[in-house]
Amino acid sequence: MKIPKEVVAALKKEKVFLIAAHINPDGDALGSCLALSSALESAGKEVYVYNKDSVPAFYRFLPGYKTVGSSLKKAIAKDPVLILLDCNSPDRAALERYSFRKSIVIDHHETENDFGDIRWVVPAAAATGLMVFYLIKAIGIAFTGDIARNLYTAIAVDTGTFRYSNTSPEVLKASAELIEAGADPAFIAECLYERWEKTRFDLLVMTLNNLEIKNGVAVMHITKDMFDKTGTTSEDTENFSNLPRAIKSVKISALFRDIGDGFWKASLRSKGNVNVAKIAELFGGGGHKNAAGFKISGGLKSAKEKLLRAAEKTSRDR
Ligand code: 5GP
Ligand code: MN
Repeated sequence: MKIPKEVVAALKKEKVFLIAAHINPDGDALGSCLALSSALESAGKEVYVYNKDSVPAFYRFLPGYKTVGSSLKKAIAKDPVLILLDCNSPDRAALERYSFRKSIVIDHHETENDFGDIRWVVPAAAATGLMVFYLIKAIGIAFTGDIARNLYTAIAVDTGTFRYSNTSPEVLKASAELIEAGADPAFIAECLYERWEKTRFDLLVMTLNNLEIKNGVAVMHITKDMFDKTGTTSEDTENFSNLPRAIKSVKISALFRDIGDGFWKASLRSKGNVNVAKIAELFGGGGHKNAAGFKISGGLKSAKEKLLRAAEKTSRDR
């Protein structure tokens, strides 16, 4: 993977960085931020990691997760260089109200945006964590066990643990190197998939119970009442939208969850060549070919109907 010279030069030259990733951070967002932060710190830099949302409980095995602060003030006062990871516009990181002396975007989403003084956006990259893997090598920092766990998790999460079509030789070679540097695949898989709170499982059962499938599109929803009844929150829903992909006839899977103020967040997943980023973009959202999302206001029934119509239209356009 070719890294723009300006990215490496800026990381070497600058002294203070604010690293931020998208809201509702997933394993790629968090693992990438924490790995890069740890690498830059070991090179003597002052680094702040920001996310508007807290680190989901099941990601609290990632070394350094406590450094993901939501207090921006201190960082901003130091006039940092912004490094946006796993997203390519400040609003996705809830930073649209701030301006920065210099900004660097490192991302693999296909939804375009022209933000950033230095942009390194590679939609073909399996994970932002893979880009950070090469970047850390390029700035000449050795992988510690902590960096290895963060990067391996980032790559594992975005490749469906080495099952999706983005699982390439370079993904497996990088992951092998991270295992050699101390990442433990069995431990990480257990943390990711086998340490759920029972309440999260209860929410999943409830959600699967309202599954409907129309023309190869699986649709589920989570209301505020379902969160309340099970004592769960939005962060517990990660990966739910993937599960109906297990059904042979399903090409697209959508999960709508109530995010308050009259809005629903749609999480879309698809199989093969079906591009859900294109569908999400119709609603002002975005993402990747096989995983994307958008926000929509109004009633649940109408939101589902709009999605089904958009899915039908894009399948006709294909
Ligand atoms: P998830 O369904 O896990 O929230 O998101 C799936 C993918 O789509 C992630 O890579 C996420 O960054 C992206 N995504 C989700 N919602 C939005 C959105 O509203 N706008 C954009 N641009 N990307 C989104
Ligand atoms: Mn990612």
